[in-house]
Amino acid sequence: VPKQDDEKINRFMFSSSYEEDVRSNPLKIEFHKAIESNQLLLYYQPRINLKTGKVTGMEALVAPETFILAVEESEVITSIGTWVLYTACKQNKKWQKQGFSIVVSINISTIQLTQLNLIKAITTVLQTTELDASFLEIEISEMMTADIEETILMLQRLKKLGVRICIANFGERFRSLSYLKNSLVDTLKIDQSFVREICNNANDEMIVKTIISMAHNLNLNVVAEGIEAKEQLVFLKEHLCDEGGGSFLSNPLAANELEGKLSDIQQIVEKHGIFKDINE
Ligand code: C2E
Repeated sequence: VPKQDDEKINRFMFSSSYEEDVRSNPLKIEFHKAIESNQLLLYYQPRINLKTGKVTGMEALVAPETFILAVEESEVITSIGTWVLYTACKQNKKWQKQGFSIVVSINISTIQLTQLNLIKAITTVLQTTELDASFLEIEISEMMTADIEETILMLQRLKKLGVRICIANFGERFRSLSYLKNSLVDTLKIDQSFVREICNNANDEMIVKTIISMAHNLNLNVVAEGIEAKEQLVFLKEHLCDEGGGSFLSNPLAANELEGKLSDIQQIVEKHGIFKDINE
């Protein structure tokens, strides 16, 4: 991407001068420094289609997570969010060019969700990176504290851009039923706290089965996060969960570590014989 494109994105992340950033929010200096010294890294955690074993998506995660926790309640999260958006879309365009049809998911914080600037930033990033909107998924978490009415308005705007919308940590609070009622969502991501005990706890098993069938009745894609063991993957596959990810398949990795590994992830799956019947 030519330098002038980076500059176009910088306008969303920084004020016109360093001094102004320092005045407006001292935490922005940390962000400037972290970007300049490459301390901030974007990792990607693959998710696979549980019918075919093929990699279908990547969740972009900021490392170190402590950085996000420190700034989550501050305006700086907007600048980081734009950096994540741009970096992830640029990377996804590369994967697309290599022939992988992958959806990249990014996490949006409560503060970002309440700013109209988000729509402008997404539009500019999609134009700059030339990524098709359908290959970008915006994850909003059930744990968010944003006003529901305001969130619905924002989701309507996002939907108009053509990006996918995912509700993460589904089941933690059940406030997202309002978003489902308004047909604004494409994907439900089952919270990992339910996946963890799926094979040992009858209630968790029932909750997960119910979420899967509810999602399908509403024509939604359902994803399980936090798959750590083969039995969990097999359970989810048998109960027709559409996609899944977790440390059993791959921990979040930097883009360069993932180079050439996309097909290996499938081999991990094949090694366990879970998709044998399909792939033979
Ligand atoms: P999240 O969106 O729920 O992300 C999933 C977290 O679960 C990630 O932690 C991931 O590494 C972890 N995980 C995935 N599979 C497994 C597994 O099999 N076992 C276990 N124990 N953990 C697993 P991470 O990277 O530490 O991120 C934590 C949270 O930080 C994220 O939760 C998200 O809320 C926030 N976050 C990360 N990146 C961003 C970002 O770019 N923007 C915003 N706003 N928040 C972010």
